Amino acid sequence: MFRENTQLTREENIKLAEESSAKAKELYDKIIAAVAEGFKHVPKYGSTKAQGVKFASPVEVISRLEYESRAAYNLKSTYNMRDRMAKEAADKEEAIKTKAKLDEERSVLLGEAIQYLIEKGLKINTDFTITNAIEKANNVAFELECQRKEDSACGDYVDFSGQNCEDECNGWNPGERRCQCGNRRVSWVESYGHSFKDPSVYAEAW
Ligand SMILES: [Zn+2]
Repeated sequence: MFRENTQLTREENIKLAEESSAKAKELYDKIIAAVAEGFKHVPKYGSTKAQGVKFASPVEVISRLEYESRAAYNLKSTYNMRDRMAKEAADKEEAIKTKAKLDEERSVLLGEAIQYLIEKGLKINTDFTITNAIEKANNVAFELECQRKEDSACGDYVDFSGQNCEDECNGWNPGERRCQCGNRRVSWVESYGHSFKDPSVYAEAW
C-alpha cells in the first residue's frame, strides 16, 4: 500500500504512488478476469433481460448474491425491530394510562383531604395549602386518633409494642411519658397504612 513519505519530494511521492496504482490495477484486472471466467456458467440470478447485461459484471453478481444471502437474516431483523417498536409503543401507551389513573386518584384524594380538613375547622391557605393538604390531613387524623384512643382507655393502662419491662408493669397510661414501671418511654405512632381515610395508631416504646 502506498503511503506518502514526507522525507521525499512531491514528484518522488507521485512517482511511487503511480507505481503502486499500476501494480494494484494489474492485480485487480487479473482477479476480475479470473472471476469472470468462473461466472461464465453462473445463471443470471433472478434478472430481467436488461439486468442480465448489468449482472454480466462479476462485481454486480457478487454484490447481489451477498445481499440475497442475507435476505432471511435481514427479514428477521426487520420483524424483530417492528416487534420491538410495537412493544415500545404499547408500553408507552400503558405508562401514559397508568400515570393518568394515578393523577386522577391523587386529585380525588386531594379533594377528599381538603374537604376533611375544612370539616375539622381548618382554613385553606391559612392552616394548610393545596400542596400539603394530604399530609396535613394525615397528621390531623393521627392527632385525633391518638386522642380517641386515649379517651377510650379511660385512664387504664394500655399494652404497647416493645413491652419487655423487667419489673412488674401493667403497660402505658397514654397521659404519661413512660410506662407504669418507668422502664420504657412510650408514645403513639402511625400504623403502616395510616391515613386520614383510615386512621390507625398504636403505642410503641422507643
Ligand atoms: Zn414498664
